Amino acid sequence: MIAKVIVDVPVKGTNRPFDYEVPARYVSWVEVGSRVAVPFGPRVVQGFVVDLAEEPSEDAAGSGSRKLKTVDHVLDVEPPLTPELVELAQWMSRTYLCHLSVALAAMLPAALKAKAERRVGIGPEALRDGGLAEYGLMTTEETELLEHIRRSKGMLPVEQLLERFPGSEALLRQWVRQGILAEEQVLKDRMNVKKVLTVFACLSPEEMLLRGQELPASAKRQRQVLEYVADHPDPIRLTELTSLLDVTAGTVKGLADKGLVRLEEVEVGRDPYADRSFKRTSPLPLTVEQSQVFSNICRAVKSATHTMFLLHGVTGSGKTEVYMQSIQTCLDEGKEAIVLVPEISLTPQMVERFKGRFGADVAVLHSRLSNGERYDEWRKISAGRVRVVIGARSAAFAPFKKLGLVIIDEEHESSYKQEESPKYHAREVAAARGRASGASVVLGSATPSLESWQAAVQGKYKLLVMAERVEGRPLPPVRIVDMRQELYGGNRSMFSKPLFEGIKSRLEKGEQSVLLLNRRGYSTFVMCRSCGYTAGCPHCDISLTYHQTSSMMRCHYCGYTERQPAVCPECGSEHIRYFGTGTQRVEEELAKLFPGIRVIRMDVDTTTEKGAHEKLLTQFRQKKGDVLLGTQMVAKGLDFPDVTLVGVITADTMLNLPDFRSSERTFQLLTQVAGRAGRHHLPGEVFVQTYTPEHYSVTAAGGHDFHRFAEQELEHRVRGGYPPFCRLILITLSHTELALLVKTSEAMVNRLKALAREEGIPGFIEEAGGAQKRALDVLGPVASPIPRIKDRYRFQCMVKYRGDQPASDLVAQAVEAFDEVCRQTKLTISVDVDPQVLM
Ligand code: ADP
Ligand code: ZN
Ligand code: ZN
Repeated sequence: MIAKVIVDVPVKGTNRPFDYEVPARYVSWVEVGSRVAVPFGPRVVQGFVVDLAEEPSEDAAGSGSRKLKTVDHVLDVEPPLTPELVELAQWMSRTYLCHLSVALAAMLPAALKAKAERRVGIGPEALRDGGLAEYGLMTTEETELLEHIRRSKGMLPVEQLLERFPGSEALLRQWVRQGILAEEQVLKDRMNVKKVLTVFACLSPEEMLLRGQELPASAKRQRQVLEYVADHPDPIRLTELTSLLDVTAGTVKGLADKGLVRLEEVEVGRDPYADRSFKRTSPLPLTVEQSQVFSNICRAVKSATHTMFLLHGVTGSGKTEVYMQSIQTCLDEGKEAIVLVPEISLTPQMVERFKGRFGADVAVLHSRLSNGERYDEWRKISAGRVRVVIGARSAAFAPFKKLGLVIIDEEHESSYKQEESPKYHAREVAAARGRASGASVVLGSATPSLESWQAAVQGKYKLLVMAERVEGRPLPPVRIVDMRQELYGGNRSMFSKPLFEGIKSRLEKGEQSVLLLNRRGYSTFVMCRSCGYTAGCPHCDISLTYHQTSSMMRCHYCGYTERQPAVCPECGSEHIRYFGTGTQRVEEELAKLFPGIRVIRMDVDTTTEKGAHEKLLTQFRQKKGDVLLGTQMVAKGLDFPDVTLVGVITADTMLNLPDFRSSERTFQLLTQVAGRAGRHHLPGEVFVQTYTPEHYSVTAAGGHDFHRFAEQELEHRVRGGYPPFCRLILITLSHTELALLVKTSEAMVNRLKALAREEGIPGFIEEAGGAQKRALDVLGPVASPIPRIKDRYRFQCMVKYRGDQPASDLVAQAVEAFDEVCRQTKLTISVDVDPQVLM
């Protein structure tokens, strides 16, 4: 049998399957989706089986008499990927122009990323009689090293040896060459699967009892164990058995040696939620709106007709209840379901709602799990021990075999797009899986992305609407406060009069407030107040971020760190300090205005530790704080009964970003945060402070009016020729030398244009005309918004195209044309299809 293998070496020339012979002993193991260790050049590497065949393919056979290489071994007992996922990876590779092995690897938990480990042991020369004598006298260190290897008998990881005997690389290499040491390469998963010794019965209970009788009288303990196992034939952990019967492990091992029981290491799942009990909930009777939506989804799920739904439901309209009942239908059909939520909303509260409904049928995947925990959760899915998974972006790859439904909550969130390769969007991945498996996809949001909205308007997605909050709770009134007026009125504080009064009255009534500082990529930086100097990274064109705890300044792109200067390096002024327009400054001001106020601050500085995020939220829920103050983190999906005021310190900080989505992001954030107030029985109030109160993204959010916003924003997008009226591919080139970079970037643009012309792309006009009228357009090159990172300059060009054009093929061809240049000059080119961030 021949396995077609994608080797996990993402370089040019390996983006195609290679043929490997499968040895007879592995034939029954190897399937499409298996992970295998294969020789590749001088190394052993991880590979993925994407196809099986009887005969090697033409070109492999045609390449002379060269013998086909053989699969070294199989890495997992069960294939970690399904044939469906292998197909999906191929689609990803084509769509996002990434290496197939990168797409495949992205589907697996980090623990399953096998790396080759070199090991050495005593070699044939050292074993020969008097073998070592010929190599002359060894130093004490050398003798010690060799003795160490000899004593340990097996093969030792080279890494481990080098740790113990630093600097012995050359010596080890020499000994391997001389045959004193033997070398092997093994692939090891970067994983710590917890395994426990488990006792299995080998014989039938009757037989076991009989054999027990035959044991000598002195083996009383062994007989006791045998009798117990005969009575309880289910596998039992060794430790449990020994403590139960008060026998030693040796006793049980003795039985195993006699072949009466079997001892085996068994993987145990570490369930991070195991010690938490969840109150079981039952389905709520649905409102009229909910049941309409529900029946639409049910119909699609039951008939297994792939449908893309866009559920536009205002905050508090009960989307989650609809999700859960739809999932129940899906399970009743014998199918499985995936729920995606933005990482930041994947709070214990959210998990609790699903665990409360589906109990142990739910696996949870989020980035705060350790690699081992993540693997365990993933195993529950691949082994079919759960039928529902809730997780962030990458849970879209959950290895279910009978997928019936995918739910994407807060579908507009930009975190559904992965910023590193493979640069996929979970929404598109879900759609692709749906098309392949007949599963339906529900995209839910109070503020849908304009891409999804436009698809719904055009009838590509089926629109479902829930316009009312459950139990007729009103949406909180939003008060827009014009900060320019405040300034004219002599108020120079960051709190307007109305917001100040609002917080004050909450403090008096013992109710809680949430304050949001709308700063994207928020950071504190160091600035001189005399001359305006800001401390920047010497390797990147970006300011250094100040970390209060360590008094150090750090670059978020390259990790460069330095101490905060005492005086300004430019003008010598001492008025240099960290500039917190950030949450810290708001906190200070709150303390000044409201002495004794308890503020819980949630930002990058207070949430670096694992679990910190949840701890702060719990404190707030337990009413250990009057105010929850934070960045975007506080806006998402939080649900606190006693929050009656939500304040946005400055709504427009994001509007000025050079990104065509800045209005959309502003509207989404304001609407989301406004939805945090008054979700329960106490009515809520929202204050939005702004310098541009007339901007439509602010006024529409104030009126909770998505339609008005969408209408205006779509007009802007048509005029500017932006998505959803076209699609974008961003190509970023980077190099240490500016001149070479500029030259290559220009060549890239010319190449793309030439290719478009050759392809005869209709209406391709190089110079004139409105962008939206062209089928394809190439823009740039221009310097990237962050023009330098890690001493490398960055330039970008953009392909704008109508969705029906073969733009990715074109870009793939163009990029390929520069392969040689990249190899020779270390220039890098990265491609982002449907970019979310234009940096
Ligand atoms: P959304 O996700 O749309 O913002 P949620 O699903 O969080 O809204 O629902 C808001 C609140 O309404 C929750 O407390 C939920 O338990 C409650 N709820 C949802 N559906 C119903 C229903 N049919 N009857 C009563 N309460 C409901
Ligand atoms: Zn200065
Ligand atoms: Zn840097």
